[in-house]
Amino acid sequence: MEEERFVTKLTPKSIDFSKWYIELIQKAELADYAPMKGMMIIRPYGYAIWENIQRLLDLRIKQTGHTNAYFPLFIPESFLKKETEHLEGFSPEVAWVTHGGRDELEERLAVRPTSEAIIGNMYAKWINSWRDLPVLINQWANIVRWEKVTRPFLRTTEFLWQEGHTAHETEADAQKETLMILSLYKEFVETELAIPVIAGKKSKKEKFAGALETYAIEALMGDGKALQMGTSHNLGQQFSKVFNIRFEDRSQKLQHVWQTSWGVSTRLVGSIIMAHGDNSGLVFPPQIAPVQVIIIPISVGNWRQEVLPVTQTIKDRLEKKGVRVKLDDRAEFTPGWKFSEWEMRGVPLRIEIGPRDIKNNQVLFVRRDTMDREAIPINGLEEGVRTRLDIIQKNIFEKALKFQEENTHQIQTYEEFKDIIESKKGFIKTFWCGSEACEEKIKDETLATIRVIVLKEDQTDATGKCILCTKEATNFVYFARAY
Ligand SMILES: [Zn+2]
Repeated sequence: MEEERFVTKLTPKSIDFSKWYIELIQKAELADYAPMKGMMIIRPYGYAIWENIQRLLDLRIKQTGHTNAYFPLFIPESFLKKETEHLEGFSPEVAWVTHGGRDELEERLAVRPTSEAIIGNMYAKWINSWRDLPVLINQWANIVRWEKVTRPFLRTTEFLWQEGHTAHETEADAQKETLMILSLYKEFVETELAIPVIAGKKSKKEKFAGALETYAIEALMGDGKALQMGTSHNLGQQFSKVFNIRFEDRSQKLQHVWQTSWGVSTRLVGSIIMAHGDNSGLVFPPQIAPVQVIIIPISVGNWRQEVLPVTQTIKDRLEKKGVRVKLDDRAEFTPGWKFSEWEMRGVPLRIEIGPRDIKNNQVLFVRRDTMDREAIPINGLEEGVRTRLDIIQKNIFEKALKFQEENTHQIQTYEEFKDIIESKKGFIKTFWCGSEACEEKIKDETLATIRVIVLKEDQTDATGKCILCTKEATNFVYFARAY
């Protein structure tokens, strides 16, 4: 049968996760490889997810007092050089512009790997007094990092993101902003993307180049590997000192501002695929699904006259209610083929309508997350769709949460650690003494890194023993192999 052939083209997730991921992205037309190594084209169906992410996150960024602006793509080399740790951290990945037309430039320009340097330069000009603070600016932009190993959405040479850059009067204000954004990201990803995350602080080794502290949210993907979903950095005064961003404080003294920066990227699209997808393909949470409802007329008998007009009316009714709905009226494909295709493409709810349904004044609902089927009266169908979409959103989150809980291991010995990382993967919750030597050795031997250090206020046990050296330790951490 046609529908079977359609599905068997996809490598099962359980057999080869990374092959499944790549095939799915191409088959579902989310993205394609560009002719240039390490770059991708985000196709309309994939870009629609990014637009939904942008819309829902931008709302939250603005509700918390930030405004959007746009800074140049190019950064003079001298700006990047000002903050040495920042430059060292990024220099292996920076793409340089050396010529403008035929003329060699006097100073090379970096294609932004992040915008702290250019924004810091402008903030020095704009900020003079405590009355100018806080500055709360966000930018939606593209970024270039010359990556050696790439994978669509997760790591590409060019990617899209938002980067917030704020400046504050006090250290406490900057820290408050850093943590506020961390919890905003957590709430956003859990509510809209239906992916449960762990929030915490990065170790020194894993922090952003030039930051005082980096905080992150981390999630488990379907193969048990962790993915960093977003970061929020407390930059302290490191950048304000080198870019000379000073203000006259309330007692007329000159001080350097306290800064933060934070971002999430198109990587989030990859996380949705890997956290929720199954052997049949994508499973989109309704909140970010490009298409929330697919209507498929059952093409038997005189369907063009009897069924098609009804499906069109239902589509219009749902559209009026703000539902992202599509009617698949293609005559050249069988209903069964269409079912498989839209299942693979992750549409949360399918509505089937045939001549017999119309006689009974009903339609058939099929949920993508459970494949449950139920007959629903055509009258008041809008309400039925709305409640199902809410239930699906909730169920997808709960399923992912259950997966995270089942794959989070609390262990006592380093032997157990090695065994679990090798066999089951997932998160390992344990104590770490804080020494870079222990962190390094664990990474070398197991390929697992510290994803986050649990924040003190979220920590239940105050002390324990370091999993490697068994010294007294106060850092409760999550280890995992990560993307
Ligand atoms: Zn140790």
